[in-house]
Amino acid sequence: MIIHYPSYFKKFNCIADKCPDTCCSMWQVVVDKESAEYYKSLSSDFGRKICSLMYRDNEGDIVFKNRDNHCPFLNDKKLCNIHINLGQEHTPCTCKMFPRFRTSFGGTEEWGISLSCPEVAQLIVDNNSFDFCTVFNEDLPDINELDAELFLEIKGARKRCYDYIKDGELTYNKLNVIVSYGKALQECADSKSYDKIAGINIDSCGQSKFAENIDRSIFKDFEYLTEKGRKLFCNYDYIKELKFTEQSRNIFLYYLYRYMLKSVYDYDVYSAVAFAVFSTIVITNAADKSGLNLAETGRIFSKEIEHSQSNLNSIIEYLKHNA
Ligand code: SF4
Repeated sequence: MIIHYPSYFKKFNCIADKCPDTCCSMWQVVVDKESAEYYKSLSSDFGRKICSLMYRDNEGDIVFKNRDNHCPFLNDKKLCNIHINLGQEHTPCTCKMFPRFRTSFGGTEEWGISLSCPEVAQLIVDNNSFDFCTVFNEDLPDINELDAELFLEIKGARKRCYDYIKDGELTYNKLNVIVSYGKALQECADSKSYDKIAGINIDSCGQSKFAENIDRSIFKDFEYLTEKGRKLFCNYDYIKELKFTEQSRNIFLYYLYRYMLKSVYDYDVYSAVAFAVFSTIVITNAADKSGLNLAETGRIFSKEIEHSQSNLNSIIEYLKHNA
């Protein structure tokens, strides 16, 4: 198996009880089947306690019942009682994995870390080079229904986006061009003319009016976890003179890396590219207006908006209808 990850991936260390915004707060922990079975097999009081705090939610997932918006196993010292009592190997997969994510593409896996964790957010915005590391391991490729030709073409297209964006100032114009490029890629994906993808010249794609036309009303309908999140994003308004920094660029690259290649599974490359542009503009705009730094604004955006399936669905719908 080929493993691909950004160079900052290995720098991440969880700061656990020192974390200013632990991942054990606000979110509901989904318990995987294997962990749930293990908890049910325990005859100890602690095992019974875990089982009493698990239930099936409306989506059919087994989850822990939060207490005061926190995971019920987060103790007063901001440490995890499951980790302490049963060992890290018996925490649910979500907890073992977070903030890491991995996407399988058959013989290749891409690994990354999520902007929603404050430690990661800082690593991402401070990342001075978007270098990748490639390693090999003995794991066998996953079986999947990936279209190999599309995979290679989108991978090449993503690299061209990195190259287009990495030098010079990041501007609305550049981001608008990237959205037009996303549209051109989508046309090739829709007509299955994958062989045309490599020939698309980003500079000749024209310039959409995507940035200027972001509809502020979409932010009013989002579900927010906190008042802070609502205040940050709910009053979105286009700022003509918005200054994009190196850190904005790093956020854009993060989103492109995280979502663009995944579009080989749903054939929606346009939404993946436009979402990266959308997130970059919204985060930079909110940081500019609030005076919060970009890492913190990005973290809140990621935790409150990107990680909410219903918010994400609204954004994707919006992007598709405004393509
Ligand atoms: S949010 Fe990040 S640093 Fe904080 S507890 Fe979770 S993984 Fe650790």
